[in-house]
Amino acid sequence: MARKHSKHGSYEDVHGEVEELAPVAPCWLCGRPTGKTIVWHHPVPKSRGGRDVVPMHPICQQTLIANFTNSELQRYGMDVEGLLANPAVRKFVDWVANKDPDFTAPQAKKQR
Ligand SMILES: [Zn+2]
Repeated sequence: MARKHSKHGSYEDVHGEVEELAPVAPCWLCGRPTGKTIVWHHPVPKSRGGRDVVPMHPICQQTLIANFTNSELQRYGMDVEGLLANPAVRKFVDWVANKDPDFTAPQAKKQR
């Protein structure tokens, strides 16, 4: 599904069923396009004063939360490269790279 920005071609509009309402935001962590569900993740946790949000897959956010504490997330902030340097995160991103954008895996929830 290639993006078509050209409007001058008349025959293009005949098959104009695909509406691109908004540009697809790539996931902050894995870089794949986001699917139906976009999580707006705070790289710096809200409780730590973070105000910036980034689009992410739910599964990617779960991975971050599972591998980092709030303090660590605050320390990394917008430094996604730092997060990707974590072997567990790196492994996850490589693994999820070929999955469907809407793919979610049942993950063991931490009981708190
Ligand atoms: Zn992702």
